[in-house]
Amino acid sequence: MSKQTLSFQAEVAQLLKLVTHSLYSNPDIFLRELVSNASDACDKLRFEGLNNAALYENAPNLEVRVSFDKAAKTITITDNGIGLSQIEAVEHLGTIAKSGTRDFMAKLSGDQKNDAQLIGQFGVGFYSGFIVADKITVESRRAGLPAAEGVRWSSAGTGDFEVETIDRAERGTSVILHLKDDASEYLNTWKLKSIISKYSDHISLPILMKKEEWKEGENDQPGEMVTTDEWETVNQAAALWTRAKKDITQEQYDEFYKQISYDSQPPLATTHNRVEGSTEYTQLLFIPGKAPMDLFNRDKAAGVKLYVKRVFIMDEAQALLPTYLRFVKGVVDSADLPLNVSRELLQESRAVKAIREGCTKRVLSMIEDLAANEPEKFSMFYNEFGAVLKEGLGEDFANRDRLAKLLRFVSSTTDTVSVGFADYKARMKEGQSAIYYITADTLAAAKSSPQLEIFRKKGIEVLLMADRVDEWALNYLPEFDGTPLQSVAKGAVDLGQLQDEDEKKALEEAQAQFKPVLDRLKEALKDKAADVRATTRLVDSPACLVVQDGDMSTQLARMLKQAGQAVPEVKPVLEVNPQHPLVRKLEASDNFDDLAQILFDQALLAEGGLPEDPAAYVRRVNQLLEKA
Ligand code: ADP
Ligand code: MG
Repeated sequence: MSKQTLSFQAEVAQLLKLVTHSLYSNPDIFLRELVSNASDACDKLRFEGLNNAALYENAPNLEVRVSFDKAAKTITITDNGIGLSQIEAVEHLGTIAKSGTRDFMAKLSGDQKNDAQLIGQFGVGFYSGFIVADKITVESRRAGLPAAEGVRWSSAGTGDFEVETIDRAERGTSVILHLKDDASEYLNTWKLKSIISKYSDHISLPILMKKEEWKEGENDQPGEMVTTDEWETVNQAAALWTRAKKDITQEQYDEFYKQISYDSQPPLATTHNRVEGSTEYTQLLFIPGKAPMDLFNRDKAAGVKLYVKRVFIMDEAQALLPTYLRFVKGVVDSADLPLNVSRELLQESRAVKAIREGCTKRVLSMIEDLAANEPEKFSMFYNEFGAVLKEGLGEDFANRDRLAKLLRFVSSTTDTVSVGFADYKARMKEGQSAIYYITADTLAAAKSSPQLEIFRKKGIEVLLMADRVDEWALNYLPEFDGTPLQSVAKGAVDLGQLQDEDEKKALEEAQAQFKPVLDRLKEALKDKAADVRATTRLVDSPACLVVQDGDMSTQLARMLKQAGQAVPEVKPVLEVNPQHPLVRKLEASDNFDDLAQILFDQALLAEGGLPEDPAAYVRRVNQLLEKA
């Protein structure tokens, strides 16, 4: 191929502008990006080499070399990884295959720190070279191709780039940065080393630089550092998770976390372990401090990368953790899995099952540890991820009890999300035999629900729940530590021993005395209510709706309907308060049917629902108002 000039895809040109303009205040990241590409290229060679050892061309030691030339003002990053063919150079360095670019551009916030994190996430890393360079030359040969099929790519980072064929004996890639005048600070061993140790220490390949030596000055001349021809390894060259815990600082863990998660903040918690036994693996897992935007998308990518014996296998290995722990980031490195493991195989592997169980336990202990020892962090965690954790009740039966202990709620007596089931149990009234809770669309609705009236009156705490998953999740938790959970909006309230004999008797009498009214109400509301009965659960309200034990609550039914799902028609039970003046007036009134309808619709409104026929409701109420 003779020299050709090609244009960048329009998006690349646009992106280049953005990258160089938005990231100039954090120029160091160019080296991180280029070293990470070199490392990716070596990973790819390792992976392809599994089935085709010839690709190694008898040079099995993979490495990255970073050097500079002061006089020419260049920095060169060379790897002996997979390399680029001519076509690949044009495609990978001239177009952006990933559709993520537009997203990237949309997400640029103008906040340089954030933008710098984003750049790697969207695979625009290579172009960050143009932050410090006004020209980049890439020379490469793909492993396995003849020496005559090398390629030189070069560009000034504006509208176009050039490609031509070259001879290149070594496989792999050299990226040569021709530095801008104001970037000459990078022509310095110490500077480059410090960037490498900050960002690239954990890269599992050796990164080599030329050794420097102090040379004494002669004849009164001052001494100086000179670069020798000897190469030395300047990074730890061991994947972070393969190193001993005691040799790793929290800062190093944090930096690693930031790189794999694209988060600009450190993680809330870190766990790092080697597990030995029938399955062997290393886990390095993090709990982020903030939830991603798409946390509630259960199909979303998982955050754990899978390695097998240090060879990178895949990102987002969903099989390694249950879905409800999808917010966890990190790495699992297995010693047992075959290197050619596929996603399908992962689902079935027994080793993976063991890893998954082990990782789940680890994550739960991390959270338990926060709960026990770092209340502030725990409440940050719970704010961000509490709702997702609840999904675990339905998903992970083996750990249900551990999960239940981690849940926290607001209650009728405590305004912060801080009441655990155990706290609740510890303050239960004498004679109380259930943990009471109510679910509603919002906490405000739960708090002012008429169903709570009798509990307030008797000073019994009720847990208030308004997360979308609550009702579904609690279906899977019939009891906590031997005490049943009871929704106060389901079934008839049975306060058991909390209700004294007089009250029980009063209710029975009311039921009997009230029977004719109840029968008439039943008849008037037969299309809407499954039953009408008298209750003692109400103090200030005339009526409320409850569903029968085992039925879906009206809120859940509403929620599912809004989400477009088919729901079985559940008729609620109308419970009326025989002590209430409105209810007492019913019997003698001349518009009984209208009042019955109003009573029902108001009970629906009180729990956040809407009357079936709002206009009719308004008409009926207005008629009443006119009379008054
Ligand atoms: P990403 O690394 O996220 O894919 P980059 O912009 O950093 O995005 O790199 C673009 C592409 O260029 C890479 O996907 C890879 O195909 C190719 N590339 C970059 N650097 C190298 C390298 N040193 N060796 C081989 N290919 C490379
Ligand atoms: Mg990259």
